Amino acid sequence: MQLTPMMQQYMDIKENYKDCILFFRLGDFYEMFFEDAITASRELEITLTGKSYGQEERAPMCGVPYHAADNYIGKLIDRGYKVAICEQVEDPATAKGIVKREVIQIITPGTVVSQSMLNEKENNYLASVFLSETGAGIAYCDVSTGEISAAELSGTRYIEKLINELVKIRAKEVVANEAVSLDGLSEDIRDASGAYFSILGSQYYNQNSAEDAVLRQFKVKSLKGLGVEEMPSAVMALGALLSYLFETQKQNLSHLARLNVYDTAGHMALDKATIKNLELTETLFEKKIQGSLLGVLDKTQTAMGSRKMKQWLREPLNRLTEIKERLDAVELLTDEILLRNNIKEHLKKIYDLERLAGRISCGNANGKDLIALKNSIFVLPDMKSELSACGDPLLERLETSMDALADIYELIDRAVVDEPPFTVKEGGLIKKGYSEDLDSLKDSIVDGQSWIAGLEAVEKERTGIKSLKVGFNKVFGYYIEVTKSYYDLVPENYIRKQTLANCERFITPELKEVESVVLNAETKINQLEYELFVEIRNMIQGFIGTIQSTSAAISVLDVLVSYAEVGSRLGYIKPSINNGDAILIEKGRHPVIEGSIRNGIFVSNDTYVDRKDSSMLLITGPNMSGKSTYMRQTALIVLMAQTGCFVPAEAATIGIVDRIYTRIGASDNLAQGQSTFYVEMSELAYILNTATDKSLIILDEIGRGTSTYDGLSIAWAVVEYLCNSRGRIRTLFATHYHELTALEGHMTGLKNLNVDVQEKDGNIVFLHKIVEGSASRSYGIHVAKLAGVPQQLLLAAEEKLSELEHSGASIDLDKYVPGAAEQLPEAKANAEQISFFSFAPNPVVERLKSLDLMTITPSQAFSILEELKKAAES
Ligand code: ADP
Ligand code: MG
Repeated sequence: MQLTPMMQQYMDIKENYKDCILFFRLGDFYEMFFEDAITASRELEITLTGKSYGQEERAPMCGVPYHAADNYIGKLIDRGYKVAICEQVEDPATAKGIVKREVIQIITPGTVVSQSMLNEKENNYLASVFLSETGAGIAYCDVSTGEISAAELSGTRYIEKLINELVKIRAKEVVANEAVSLDGLSEDIRDASGAYFSILGSQYYNQNSAEDAVLRQFKVKSLKGLGVEEMPSAVMALGALLSYLFETQKQNLSHLARLNVYDTAGHMALDKATIKNLELTETLFEKKIQGSLLGVLDKTQTAMGSRKMKQWLREPLNRLTEIKERLDAVELLTDEILLRNNIKEHLKKIYDLERLAGRISCGNANGKDLIALKNSIFVLPDMKSELSACGDPLLERLETSMDALADIYELIDRAVVDEPPFTVKEGGLIKKGYSEDLDSLKDSIVDGQSWIAGLEAVEKERTGIKSLKVGFNKVFGYYIEVTKSYYDLVPENYIRKQTLANCERFITPELKEVESVVLNAETKINQLEYELFVEIRNMIQGFIGTIQSTSAAISVLDVLVSYAEVGSRLGYIKPSINNGDAILIEKGRHPVIEGSIRNGIFVSNDTYVDRKDSSMLLITGPNMSGKSTYMRQTALIVLMAQTGCFVPAEAATIGIVDRIYTRIGASDNLAQGQSTFYVEMSELAYILNTATDKSLIILDEIGRGTSTYDGLSIAWAVVEYLCNSRGRIRTLFATHYHELTALEGHMTGLKNLNVDVQEKDGNIVFLHKIVEGSASRSYGIHVAKLAGVPQQLLLAAEEKLSELEHSGASIDLDKYVPGAAEQLPEAKANAEQISFFSFAPNPVVERLKSLDLMTITPSQAFSILEELKKAAES
């Protein structure tokens, strides 16, 4: 059987877009068919119907109205689908046979530009990865703003660098070459970015076509001009990114014009666990901004500034001069309150220039967008004069990269009315005086319009019909309306057009004549206004590069001002930065917790860590006393300083850190589910394998998720390893293994710290004060008391504790040979000979030790528990 012609057309088009849901335009609807319809009806909760298409059965079909499509497309994109938009590309009125249709755009998670699908405080990145045997390239862009960057990742750890870049960028979509899946990296990439991920065919990764695409896009003659001549993998990644964009966007991408080539060595590398644990841009569990570092620091005035701050927090600097430059600028903005306030007022009036520029380039900008652009530009001259000669090199450089954009201001001001409508095709956009043609068209209907406007009064007077009205509707045009009671007064020249319940509507030949002149002219006026508007928009397109560099400077300024604002409000100080090893913080505070304590005040604490005698701070103390808070505040202060922000302390000297690692032991992390101990150990392995002399490591209760023996041995070996291997690495280690504190004095670099606790009448009071030395007791029982555990149980526990303490549960230092720790394997062997606890082997404990938690199912676990319980009771 033959397919209907329309269905044949659908099939032909769908053939080329198998991986997309095809939105097929039919009149006022986008229709979907077959599999697409089944998927879409399920995901969008819309009714599935059927359409006959020349076969016996009917084709599954569903549809959405075209004017509400954005909403539905957004939902599908969120769920990880791609949507191909197929439009009618000729006028159905004039088409011969079936209307021609074409796919005009493919919308994917990384290429969304519609305002309603974007979050204004977040970039929407598309990233492209190219992996080879010797290195990797990464390129990423935000089509909505025009930002585009590329980097070459080489050296021994290029794969790890690649993963960290993806973690940092947090693209909404990642594309990659085949080698990525052959190398088994797909999962890692998916995991790092949490994005929609796909492998592109080899035609995207052809060296010649990649180079061509790059040269064409950036309008240069050679790769050298772009600074990527020695970055073969970056060029491949970039070329594939551009080809993918051309293919999906099918339109002007001229705003992707300023390639930012960067070097990963310029930034602190932060891995996914660290970014999460330090709660830089969102909280760990609830994923909220409030409660994160960003939540405290982000007082930016513009959406661009907010996006920029997010970027900065995820990529702190590690080059001295750049950090100092930012800190100096923040210092000036902190001291010069008037200057800061003035700039803030100007910033408030600036719209999202980056995304305005994006919409202008893609031809999506309407009259309101141009007015927003104009109003933003209005403050630029004042902003520039505030900054010029302010005396700070960075701020003055920002000033020079801002253009006052006077031409654009003048153009929009001359051409576009102050309050234009949302639509661009229905007139009402262009000011009088901008175009002679337009003005004379408008003049030509003034007489007609005023004649119609005056008609009602004239006719009332003439006919004596008091209720006479002149109205307009789309079907009949202008009409004269007369209510029933006046029918006998209707004059001869009125022609009846429509009868309603209480009235009749008439026209006159004269009215129709004037009407046709007016309506014809109005169509022409609307058309001309549209053409003029597009012309203006195209003229502005020529300035996109300048708008972009201006908005880039504004976003940086916005972040610096926000840093200064928050810093002075919260009493931050300027840290001093150097290339040494010591980190010295006096009276440091946790930036987030200090603001969230409900009763009482935050207790400040000092930190000193270096690579000589204090490289390993071993922190003990009861639960809830503030160990984790102390370690994180140290990490956050270092990180803030290296993004150019002032810090919550009374003084801080920071020897630059190239990476921060933060790990939380398994038991603190149970919400993650599955085998947390395995995760913990693989994260530990990652740290030990990748940390450098310049790194800072925060370990919180590592080794907790396994039996005491195991856990203690692991924790001990970690301490040894970090104190001895490859030179010492600055580490803060909170542990509940008191036994480890015995190592102080036997291991260079190790310092015991604990959190001071006062005991009062058998109760404990947390002072949250970090002091030297080890905690005398574990206080677990006291904490249990605080938490409301029954008195009887507490007494029993105390009895047992004193029994245990007398039986000598401690590290036997006589058997510990300090020198042996130099070689880790021997140290591990030693650990086995050392008795930590002097208990006889217990069958239940032995059985527990023999379990492999990685392979046990919940139901097995339950039956083992039953078995153990029986054994214990017998
Ligand atoms: P630990 O890691 O020792 O179990 P946390 O660091 O998680 O303890 O701190 C527990 C709680 O104690 C925090 O949520 C906070 O409310 C409070 N706290 C911690 N440090 C301080 C401090 N320096 N000043 C005041 N309160 C603090
Ligand atoms: Mg803790």
